Amino acid sequence: MRIVHWFRRDLRLTDNPALSWALAHASTLDLVYIHAPQEEAPWAPGAASRWWLHASLQALSAQLAQRGASLNIRSGNSHDVLQTLLAETRAEAISWNRLYEPAALRRDQALEAELTQAGISVHTANAQLLLEPWQIATKTGTPYRVFTPFWKTARQQLDLGPVLPPAEEFPASRAKAGLGLEALRLVAGQGWSDKLAEHWSVGEPAALRQLANFVEQKLAQYAHGRDRPGQAGTSRLSPHLHWGELGPRQILAAVAHVEPERSSPFVAELGWREFSHHLLFHFPHCTEAPLNPRFAKFPWRQRESCAADLGAWQQGRTGIDFVDAGMQELWQTGWMHNRMRMICGSLLTKNLGIDWRLGAAWFWDTLVDANLANNTFGWQWIAGCGADAAPYFRIFNPDTQADKFDADGVYRRRWLGTAPRPPALLDLKTSRARALAAYARTRA
Ligand code: FAD
Repeated sequence: MRIVHWFRRDLRLTDNPALSWALAHASTLDLVYIHAPQEEAPWAPGAASRWWLHASLQALSAQLAQRGASLNIRSGNSHDVLQTLLAETRAEAISWNRLYEPAALRRDQALEAELTQAGISVHTANAQLLLEPWQIATKTGTPYRVFTPFWKTARQQLDLGPVLPPAEEFPASRAKAGLGLEALRLVAGQGWSDKLAEHWSVGEPAALRQLANFVEQKLAQYAHGRDRPGQAGTSRLSPHLHWGELGPRQILAAVAHVEPERSSPFVAELGWREFSHHLLFHFPHCTEAPLNPRFAKFPWRQRESCAADLGAWQQGRTGIDFVDAGMQELWQTGWMHNRMRMICGSLLTKNLGIDWRLGAAWFWDTLVDANLANNTFGWQWIAGCGADAAPYFRIFNPDTQADKFDADGVYRRRWLGTAPRPPALLDLKTSRARALAAYARTRA
C-alpha cells in the first residue's frame, strides 16, 4: 500500500504505533511534517517551543537520513498540504498519532471524515498517553475532577504490552522534495533562545539517554530529590514528552524493574500528566476559563492594572529571592523546577492578585515544555480555581519554602548571583491577608 505518515508531536522512531503500522503495510512511505502554527491558535508554539521544535526536527531528519529515509517538511494549511501530498504520492492510506488539544482535535476529526469520504484509509493511534482521555470515567460515567480516584481507576486499566521496536527499514518515498528546515523560520532572529542550547540535548537519542540516566542515578532518591530545586533530582523529561521524542509507555517500561515503593512517586507524576489531558479533553474551555465556575468573576488583576508588577515578576525583579531565582531559571534555561513553578505561581496569583492566565501566557512563551494541558491545569491548581485545586488558603510563603527546600541557598546563589537585589515589591504578610479575604468572599 502507498502510505503517508504525518509526524506531529510524535518525533520519534521507537514505540511509535502509527509509524509502525505504516511500516508494516507500506510499499512506499512518505514521511511528512507540516508546519501550521495558525491551526493551534491562540496556542501556537511560543518562542522556547519553536526553538525546541527546530532542534527536534533536525534530530529526526538526521535519524531518518541514517536509515536512508527523509523527512518531507512542508508548510501551510494541513488540509491543502495533505491533498497535494496525496496527489503527488497517489497514497491510499495515511497514518498519524492522535493529539488531544481542542484545536487539533477539531482539525483532525474534520480531516479524518473528509479523507475517509474520499476513499483514503486513515489509521490513527495513541503515542502520547497511557490511556485515552475517554477511557476513564467515574461510576456514573462522568469525567473525574479529583486526581486520587482518577489515578486509582487509571492504574487498574493500564494494559501496556511491549514497547514497539525502533523503525529501522523504510521503503522508498514518492513525493517531491520538501522545504529546508530553515524555511520554517522557527528560530529566525531569536537572540534569547540561543542560550537554551547550553542546557538541553534535543531529539529522541538524547531523550532515551536522559531516561536511562535518570532511572540509573536519580529514581531511587526521587521522593526526596524532587522537592529540592538546587539538585537535579527530577527527570527533566517534560520537553521530550511534550514533543513525543519519548512516550510515557517507554518510561513505565524503563522503571518496571524498580520496586513500586521507589518508583511510584515518579509514576504518579505521569499520572498527573494523564489527569491534565483527561481534564482538557472533557473541559476544553478551561484554557480560557476556570474549571470551578465560582471563580468565573473572581477579581484578578488584569494586564492594564498590573503591568509593572507583572513585568517585575516576569523579569525576576520582585525582590523576593526565591521567586526571582525561579523566574531567572526559567529565563536562562526555558525550564523551571516544579516546586518553583508552584511558588512563583502562588506569588503571582495570590500575593499579587494577578490573573492566572497572564502567568500561563508567560510560561507558554518561555517554557521548552509548554504543554496546553499541563500548563492550564498547573496554573488553575495554584490559583485555586481548578480541579482538585490547592485549597484557597494554601499560599506559599517563599521565604519559608526557601528555608525548607533550599536550606543551603545553592539554588538562589546559582540564579541570582551576586548582583545587588531590588527592594521587595510587596509585603508577604499583608498581601497574604488580602488574598485570603478575596478568596473567602468567593467561597461564600
Ligand atoms: P518529573 O518530576 O521528572 O516528572 C515526570 C513527568 O511527569 C514530567 O516530565 C511531566 O510530563 C509529568 N509531570 C510532572 N509533574 C506534573 C504536573 N504537576 N502536572 C502534569 N504533569 C506533570 N508541565 C509541563 O509538561 N508543561 C507545562 O507547560 C507545565 N506548566 C506548569 C505550570 C505550573 C504553574 C505548574 C505548577 C506546573 C506545570 N507543569 C507543566 C508541571 C510540572 O511542573 C512539570 O511537568 C515538571 O516540572 C517537569 O519537570 P520534570 O520532567 O523533571 O518532571
